[in-house]
Amino acid sequence: MTREQTTPSYPPPTPTAVSAPFWEAAQERRLAYQRCADCAQAVFPPRAHCPHCWSESLTWQESTGHGTIASFTVAHRPGHPAFAELAPFVLALIDVQDGFRLLSRLTTNPEEGLAVSAPVRVVWESSGDWTLPLFELITVDGGP
Ligand SMILES: [Zn+2]
Repeated sequence: MTREQTTPSYPPPTPTAVSAPFWEAAQERRLAYQRCADCAQAVFPPRAHCPHCWSESLTWQESTGHGTIASFTVAHRPGHPAFAELAPFVLALIDVQDGFRLLSRLTTNPEEGLAVSAPVRVVWESSGDWTLPLFELITVDGGP
């Protein structure tokens, strides 16, 4: 089997006027989210209104990029052929320290001691013209 060494190119995101600031920040390897100026709740994914109090006063913040695994699954048969070579890989819901939850792919091998509540941090992957936020397990010694 021939394997080409290329930059992975996955189906691209489709930013809207509301989500564009998230993707622009990602290009600079910053994990952006919104916070409501009226009720102080974190808001993610990006929205035009706060889902907690319906305020339109949302401001962009930069996340620490640290969190814990809320839940995860191992994808053996990806829903899109572009991800076939990655399988099996881990999809996880991440509870980010800043108070929001997001779905992402872990760079961690599925057999490497994954667990709910395990600490993770954001890592960035270039894909075509995009930079995508993925997550990796933080090892017991804290890593670099
Ligand atoms: Zn609010």
